[in-house]
Amino acid sequence: MSVDAPRVFDAVDTLRSAVARWKRHGARVALVPTMGALHAGHMALIARAQALADRTIVSIFVNPTQFAPNEDFLRYPRTFEADVAKLRDVGCDAVWAPAAETMYPDGFATRIEMDGPALGLETDFRPHFFAGVSIVCCKLFTQTQADVAVFGEKDYQQLAVMRRLVADLDLPIEIVGHETIREADGLALSSRNAYLSKDHRAIAPRMVEILETAVAQLREGQSIADCEAKAVAALAAAGFDHVDYVAIRDARTLARCSGPTAETGQPLRILAAAWLGETRLIDNLDASLEPAPSAAD
Ligand code: AMP
Repeated sequence: MSVDAPRVFDAVDTLRSAVARWKRHGARVALVPTMGALHAGHMALIARAQALADRTIVSIFVNPTQFAPNEDFLRYPRTFEADVAKLRDVGCDAVWAPAAETMYPDGFATRIEMDGPALGLETDFRPHFFAGVSIVCCKLFTQTQADVAVFGEKDYQQLAVMRRLVADLDLPIEIVGHETIREADGLALSSRNAYLSKDHRAIAPRMVEILETAVAQLREGQSIADCEAKAVAALAAAGFDHVDYVAIRDARTLARCSGPTAETGQPLRILAAAWLGETRLIDNLDASLEPAPSAAD
């Protein structure tokens, strides 16, 4: 932990020199990629990173390539000064905050196209999303040369995609998943919760309750299709304006299950995305027949 932490970097060469200095002294370096507007969920990831490494870098970059033109890139909350103050309070070592032109200079031409865990779910509704996340995280990994990166289970498909990406490209970085941090009423913390009206905020925690009910039904032996369909209906009845999906999938590959019901020994995850007005919420839970402490680890 640095005394005058954190140093804010916006150029790759100065960031790399600092990391090289740390590594010459044998330090293990962790990265927590974020889009800023830091909340307690991000801070839990940072605490985990600090426990896993000697030096922690938090990247703050609202990545334009993962937003479609109709999405909330322009109105996404940006609270850089407050974020840096929070990072100072916890003794984070470095903030990596590149400008968009640094990340994607003129002539940038590389894309990453993934199958496997990137297929379906989020991709059915945000087809551009994982290409944007994959390219930016690949760059963040190589820019920071971190030994370990911590991602939240909150974005479970993203975590599965990161594990696949790193394995497929032999990237020398370990991916660690951290459990979802929730409000007292169960709502998963998210920077986008700030968009919710008072009425929508009251409905939002129903999502995790409905997923819990679906998991209980699955564990009673009800079929996967029935549990998914009942959860979709329950979300609509609770006041969600539109349900993009509720899906019970293999927790590691996110592939569809082969049988009609859950099978003992197969790690499962239930994932959902639904809209309250203009705000899209996502959440997920372990759905294995034998609950795992953390299916992502
Ligand atoms: P974001 O800034 O939304 O891109 O998120 C940055 C990282 O924080 C991602 O790995 C997210 O999965 C993680 N994250 C966001 N919300 C939470 C939460 N409520 N609990 C745990 N991790 C979270």
